[in-house]
Parts: sequence; structure tokens; C-alpha cells
Amino acid sequence: MTFAVHGIAVARGIAIGRAVVMGSGRADVAHYFIQPSQVEAEIERIRVGRDAVIEEIHRLQQTIAGMGPKEAPHELSALLDVHLMLLQDQELIGGVKHWITDRLYNAEWALTTQLEALSRQFDEMEDEYLRERKADLEQVAERILRYMKGLGAPVAPATPRRRTQQDRLLDDSVDVPLVLVAHDLSPADMLQFKQSVFAGFVTDVGGKTSHTAIVARSLDIPAVVGARGASQLVRQDDWVIIDGDGGVMIVDPSPIILAEYGYKQRQVELERGRLGRLRHTPAVTLDGQKVELLANIELPEDAEAALRAGAVGVGLFRSEFLFMGREGRMPDEEEQYLAYRKAVEGMQGLPVTIRTVDVGADKPLDETRRYDTHLNPALGLRAIRWSLSEPEMFRTQLRAILRAAAHGKVNLLVPMLAHGTEIRQTLSLIDFARAELDNRGVAYGPVSIGAMIEIPAAALQVRTFLRYFDYLSIGTNDLIQYTLAIDRADESVAHLYDPCHPAVLGLVAGTIAECRRQGKPVSVCGEMAGDTQFTRLLIGLGLRSFSMHPAQILAVKQEVLRADATRLEGWARDVVASEDPAQALAG
Ligand code: PEP
Ligand code: MG
Repeated sequence: MTFAVHGIAVARGIAIGRAVVMGSGRADVAHYFIQPSQVEAEIERIRVGRDAVIEEIHRLQQTIAGMGPKEAPHELSALLDVHLMLLQDQELIGGVKHWITDRLYNAEWALTTQLEALSRQFDEMEDEYLRERKADLEQVAERILRYMKGLGAPVAPATPRRRTQQDRLLDDSVDVPLVLVAHDLSPADMLQFKQSVFAGFVTDVGGKTSHTAIVARSLDIPAVVGARGASQLVRQDDWVIIDGDGGVMIVDPSPIILAEYGYKQRQVELERGRLGRLRHTPAVTLDGQKVELLANIELPEDAEAALRAGAVGVGLFRSEFLFMGREGRMPDEEEQYLAYRKAVEGMQGLPVTIRTVDVGADKPLDETRRYDTHLNPALGLRAIRWSLSEPEMFRTQLRAILRAAAHGKVNLLVPMLAHGTEIRQTLSLIDFARAELDNRGVAYGPVSIGAMIEIPAAALQVRTFLRYFDYLSIGTNDLIQYTLAIDRADESVAHLYDPCHPAVLGLVAGTIAECRRQGKPVSVCGEMAGDTQFTRLLIGLGLRSFSMHPAQILAVKQEVLRADATRLEGWARDVVASEDPAQALAG
């Protein structure tokens, strides 16, 4: 039966495929396709893992056999019996074999997929005792996975296959696109999927500018977040359509709906093809104003996509992705230097703006800190606040950035500043980092130093900021969050997250105007910069530098080419001054 689950549209396009439902915490398992010739070896890997766990349980049983009821209560041996039974269960092993043989999933992926399917069956059981056995099943799967992790992956992952539209055959072949449906994915999980096999994503939670959504957008595949209940309503292998424009997932679509979305999908492809022709066209308005279109990147390797999209530099390298998912172990100076240098060299002489680490809130350093115990993590020790509280770590990063600047044009960008004391402390740490390199006799290059304007307090004292910094970059994602007191990652208040709120537009307009008055560069690097709804408005407000995901650059360029900056000035002023800018913008 066809039904739809509504959420928030975060990345455009249409994906049609089979659902891979991922239980929480399973995203760290590798997902890749194997070659048909590797099927036997993968099944063997699972078998070896399972046998090792059986062996371990037998040993445990022998140990506790000699103990008294106090040290080894009866429940413990009963529990081990249940685990043994589950490990030998045909549904588990048979199911895993099916995913490996028929779908060519790697062993870990096959195991977690089958686990998810069986968990559903347990959830539906009437008998409470049996329902509770789900936890045991999860534990045995976890043990097998842990054992396999210890052994490492014996088969090299086959090249991940991103399915082309032509592959979209609605049959049971292994070439059917797959879409991932999960309760939640952290930004670090999402990053793992950069080279993934998935053609689209849906999550139960999340807001439009949550960092998970931002990374999803950078993957340039359709994605919907905040689709409450999606991961419960969809079953493993269901046919689904993800409409990344409408923010909806359609489950078990009828042939008519499939045909309609197939048509839309082809239209999206055609539009992409058309935009592709603008790649080498300079971004200049009708009245001859040059506009700089820069890329936001998360990893040094993204420089390639930035160049491919025609970016004239990197306006925001979110360096925190180098720090995340490493169980708290920080990258050292050398590792960071090599990563920044790779991005700089990858951009082939174009400028790269490296933002110092911005972890905290919805970008935890690792999973264990994911659900931060602080009541308001977005208002807590985030971004520069965290950096200043860890001066050693911060100076290490600063030295690495300064060293990378010896290889090309680098701008250093500091997130989330609000106080004069933070500004002065940051600048003196930069001086200190330079002095440390001098003492060590290590080469480094010059950097322009900029601040992000993403807290209303900063937007209200732009003049002070301009006394200290070479340039400013407006982070609208946080500026909106903090101006309107709306958690950007919380889908329950997502309808109140409004870039068009007069207060937000007033702060953006004021920041641009002051920078222009003082002749200092200013850009917007929040999601607003890549949203074509706002291109004309921002140009009218005097903005000439936009930084966004590479996938958005050509669509924004098209708007730039159609804009007349001089004529837009008065109109933009009126939009910002109006009581209902959204309506004025549309009118
Ligand atoms: C912003 O806040 O707009 C921004 C660009 O930074 P981030 O999204 O990484 O918080
Ligand atoms: Mg921000």
C-alpha cells in the first residue's frame, strides 16, 4: 500500500530505490558492494566471526560451571544459552547469506541489515519475554561485529557504485539504487557516506541547517530530514521514492506514481545538464558587477568537486571534520598541516579559507559526546569557546594552518566570536603560534584573518570586529539560530527557522553595509548563500562574495547572470525594511 512520510527538504532531486533501514548506532559499519567472486569469502567471514563468538560463550559457560550461585547466578547461564541459540538461528544466518549472495553486500552490512529486519519481527511479538530477546540479538550481532573488526576486512571494498539513472531498473537485480533510511545520522556518519552506495537519505530527526543536513547537501543526492517515524514505518527493502524538493518520502509507490517521479527525475537531470554549460562562464551581473562564487568543503578531497563546479576558491573549509569520530584523539600538527596543504594545493592557486575547529552542539567530537549532557549545548562550549579552553590544541591547529599558507593563498577564519576578550585572546594565540614556528625555524606563510559573524552580538558590533579583522564572513545558519532562538537541528521548531525574519535580514544587511563602507571584504557562507531564493536580495544588499556547497554554484551563477545589481539596490532595501520580507521577496 502506498503511503507518504513528510519531512524537511534538504537536498534536491529525486531518488527511487530500495530502502536500507539502519538501526541507531549502525552507521559506523562499512557499506560496500562486493564482487560475485567474493561471495563465498564474505560468508566465510561471517561464519568465522559467529563461530568465534560461540566458542567464547562455551568458554564462559565452562568457567561459570565451577562457580557457586552467588558468583554466577542462574540467569547468567540462561542468558548465555539464549545467546547460543540466537547465534545458531537459521533466520539470522540464512538472512545474512541472502544479503551477501543476492545483493552483494559486504558481510558487516549484511549482518546489520538482517539484524534490523529481525528486530522488527521481535518488536511485533505479543509475548513480552520474546520481545525482550531483541536486546540479546543485538548483543550477539555486536559481538560478531566486534570480532570481525578485530580481524579487519579481508576483501578490498569494490569501488563504490553510485547508480546512474540508466541503472534504475525496477527489478530485483543488484543494480537497483539504494536509499538509506535512519533514525538519525551524525555529521561524521554522514561524511562516511561521501563515496557511498546510497542514492538518497531520509532521517527521522534533524533540521534544514543541521550539520547532518549540510553534509547531506554536499553529497549532492536527494535527502529529507525530520521525517518523523520514517525508520519505523519503512521496512528493509521496501521500494521508496525520495523527493528532495518536496521533502517527502513515498513508500511502496504505485506504477502511476513511479512513472510521475521517473519523469521528474529526468527533468532534474536535464536541468543539471543545462546548468553544466555555465561552468566556465564568469559570474558577472547584467550591469557588469563581478560576483565571487566560492565553495564550502568538509574534507581536503572536496577541493576537486569545488574546482569541477567552477568555484573560484574555498570560502569555508569546515576543519572540524578532521577532528570528529576519532574517539577524542586529536589530529596532530603534521596530520593537520598535510590535510590543509592538500586542500590548498588541490585548489591550484585559488584561495582557501580555513575555519578553525568548530565542534560542539550538533557536531560532537565523537559519538560518546553526542548527546551532550549540557542542557543547551548550542549555547555552550562550542567553536572558538572550545578552542580557547584548549589552548594547546588550538595553537597546534594554528601552526598547521600557518604552515599550509606557505603553499598558497590561505585565509584564516574564526567561528562564533562575540566578545572583545575572545578576539584579543585569539589574535594573541595566532601571534604565539607564529613565534613558535619561528623558534623552530619552520616555514609558514602570510594569512588574512577573518571572523565569522554568526552571533547577533557580533552583528551588532561589526565596527569593533572590523578594527581587528581583515574580512568578515556571515554564518547565517547560526545567525538565524541565535537571533530567533530556534535550535537549527530540532525538527519540532523547524517551521520557525526563518531566514526572512526582518531581524535576521537587518543584521545581514547591516554587516554587509558596514564592510562595504570600510572597503573590507565580506561574504556569506551559511546555507542562505547557496539558496537561489536569496541571490538577488543579497546582490541588492551589496554582497559580492558567496560561499556554498559546490553543487549549488551553477544554480546561483544562473541567478547572478540574470541580475542587475544597480536596479536591485532599492528593491533590496525595501524588502529588508518591510514587515513581511518573505512576501516582498516573492512579489
Ligand atoms: C553558519 O553558521 O552559517 C556556518 C557557515 O557555520 P556552520 O554551519 O558550520 O555552523
Ligand atoms: Mg556556524
